[in-house]
Amino acid sequence: MNPGGELDQLNLIHTIEELLAHSLTLETEAAEHYDEIAHNMAVHNNQDVAEVFTKLASYARLHAAEMETLAEGKALPVIKPWDFKWPQDASPESVDDMGLHYLMTPHQALTVARKVEYAAMQFYGSVAETSPDPEVRKLALEFSEEEKGHVALLDEWIVHYPPPEDGWDEDPDPAHMPE
Ligand code: ZN
Repeated sequence: MNPGGELDQLNLIHTIEELLAHSLTLETEAAEHYDEIAHNMAVHNNQDVAEVFTKLASYARLHAAEMETLAEGKALPVIKPWDFKWPQDASPESVDDMGLHYLMTPHQALTVARKVEYAAMQFYGSVAETSPDPEVRKLALEFSEEEKGHVALLDEWIVHYPPPEDGWDEDPDPAHMPE
């Protein structure tokens, strides 16, 4: 696909600017997705799940704000969607492919969110291992530790919400069309 040699194929992130451009996109889009899910759940009277996602959206926005601060005074590259160096399954859009259902239970919602946060942790972790730049590796390691904290938090929440029983997706009052 790319005659540029092995290094390019490994999708290495070389500069702080490049790392921040990726992480800002990751966190901003995660926040938007979480907000959207929260809104859908609230519309369908699934308040428990709505609250979970509202909280997750606020964490992602906090993280994004942190990165904005780090990016101050730096010229971040504008990266085209197809040029992002996401590893498999770790794109910020991946949450869209996770089979969201408007009647999903808190357990299912938390499981989806855990996958997203875990993918982010993996992404930063791999940058921390593979970037040729020591500063990039250091910052990526910090980000990966933060994501690890989010995964741990979700694990704690999941314990409080057992898996759903059969029939969770049967709507007793299907008055409204899903949005
Ligand atoms: Zn996170």
